[in-house]
Amino acid sequence: MTGKAARQEGEHRIAVYPGSFDPVTFGHLDIIRRAAKQFDKLIVAVLNNTSKNPLFSVEERTDLLREVTKDLSNVEIDSFRDLLVRYMRSRNAQVSVRGIRSVTDFEYELQMASTNRQLDEGIETIFMMTNPKYSYLSSSIVKEIAKFGGPVQDLVPPAVEAALRRKYGNEA
Ligand code: ADP
Repeated sequence: MTGKAARQEGEHRIAVYPGSFDPVTFGHLDIIRRAAKQFDKLIVAVLNNTSKNPLFSVEERTDLLREVTKDLSNVEIDSFRDLLVRYMRSRNAQVSVRGIRSVTDFEYELQMASTNRQLDEGIETIFMMTNPKYSYLSSSIVKEIAKFGGPVQDLVPPAVEAALRRKYGNEA
């Protein structure tokens, strides 16, 4: 892939935080808040991946993300179904942000970052370490608890909690 690599003087620093966000958790939100401080604009981009079997549709996931980030003025919510590096070029973004919780995350993320670098050298991946408070937290764990009607209020924002209850039909 070709194109201008590095950013130019005066250009806006635009980062993309890609992921499934099925659904967004306090762990994601922590990364979003911290990353938003480091860039002029942060695009949270929901991957429209047909090979996964998500609980929430892309539209539901983007709606929830919009709701929980509405106080962050430089955060935009979008979705994509393309190679990440190509999507990033189309959005004029130079940096991809990913969160790391564990050594397992690191190994997977290193592979992804190396692949993306191989596809497009102009794209940089930046890792942010999890807030230790949320180092165990994943969308899968949240879904597992919610499925059995367990408490998730310490794991996800209220709008997500309500959406989970509706999905699993335990409105209590
Ligand atoms: P993906 O399917 O791409 O892994 P996820 O929605 O599971 O999408 O995660 C998106 C990104 O957020 C990944 O980089 C993941 O490591 C990071 N992440 C997820 N949960 C947490 C958390 N609790 N703390 C920090 N980073 C997290």
